[in-house]
Amino acid sequence: KLKPILPQAHPPAWLGVMGGGQLGRMFAQAAQAMGYQVAVLEPADACPAGQVAQRLVNAGYGDAAGLDALAAQCAAVTTEFENVPADSLSRLAQSVFVAPNAHGVSVAQDRIAEKRFFVDCAPKSGVMPAPHKVIATQADIDAIDDDLLPGILKTVRMGYDGKGQVRVKSRDEVRAAFESMGQVTCLLEKMLPLAYEVSVLTARGHDGESVVYPIAENVHRDGILFTTTVPGPNVSADSALQAQQAAQAIVAELGYVGVLCIEFFVLTDGALVVNEMAPRPHNSGHYTIDACVTSQFAQQVRAMARLPLGDVRQHSPAVMLNLLGDVWFEGDSDTPREPVWNEILALPGANLHLYGKDDPRRARKMGHLTFIAPTLQQAQEQLKAACAILA
Ligand code: ADP
Ligand code: MG
Repeated sequence: KLKPILPQAHPPAWLGVMGGGQLGRMFAQAAQAMGYQVAVLEPADACPAGQVAQRLVNAGYGDAAGLDALAAQCAAVTTEFENVPADSLSRLAQSVFVAPNAHGVSVAQDRIAEKRFFVDCAPKSGVMPAPHKVIATQADIDAIDDDLLPGILKTVRMGYDGKGQVRVKSRDEVRAAFESMGQVTCLLEKMLPLAYEVSVLTARGHDGESVVYPIAENVHRDGILFTTTVPGPNVSADSALQAQQAAQAIVAELGYVGVLCIEFFVLTDGALVVNEMAPRPHNSGHYTIDACVTSQFAQQVRAMARLPLGDVRQHSPAVMLNLLGDVWFEGDSDTPREPVWNEILALPGANLHLYGKDDPRRARKMGHLTFIAPTLQQAQEQLKAACAILA
């Protein structure tokens, strides 16, 4: 099958990114390190990516004039925000190479489409999502199979960091939760017995070649990623291989170009279940900046510029700790404080990444720390020390 050969985009070409958050900022930094110029499209006028990009197109994600300005300037456009309207990516794609494309993003931003895709893909990926049911009406609640409870009711769109989710034990609780979410279409998922959670970061080039990073083990607190550890202390070689193969089958089936991260559950009986995917670099892949030959952000640059994909080899064991706004406050109080960077940075192997957000709020991702060390145990000890300093 003949494919049109697209020219590569070489530095100092402009690369565009939809979204101005921390993922866009770290993308811009990686692209700039390679000599590219970066334009960010973002509605907010002060944003983490806007502080570092050469150009900020201040426009809504669906603003035609803004999109056309981005397309006119850039050799390729990507997204750092999975809820960017798919139509905007289609509009951009009429005049500029867009990776990932509207199709991949639209599947990932809708939990129903995503689950359906995972089910369809199962013969190739070898993994299934959690048992689930669409809840759009009261009648859907009446028809819930008892086996789906206890479960989690999740909004189909716009959920992240555990937002838009309610744990439910009975049909009455489903009813109450559905009401509390304004009766928007939801997905009820069976609550599974998790042993641990992992994610697999992949990248696929426009020529169909793909690479897969080492599997990462993730710990969440209050629905937000707390730490990522690579190699994961609980991960068996078997489930690692199975998850990596599943991830590569999934990106191939999606015809995806760019970096994509897939979250999996490992159940107490060892079974692997696919949870969700993010059509972009992912919080659990931040460790790649300090611990891998090619970071997930440099990889995104390579994929969208149609350059050879980079080496995914991990050169050091790593532990990543998210820095939420909480550590900018004394204990549980409202008294602001500055984290003791002096002590944190004295820890061996500490790498500090702050996103330039000037108003810390609890549960807000302000930055992250990655500890790398010759052994995983040493990295974990530094993490423990950091947590004690930040407590
Ligand atoms: P988000 O978009 O907020 O990341 P997720 O679907 O990943 O939504 O859910 C957030 C967290 O909730 C997961 O990382 C996991 O800890 C827990 N969770 C989600 N679905 C299930 C499930 N079916 N069974 C058990 N735990 C779940
Ligand atoms: Mg998740």
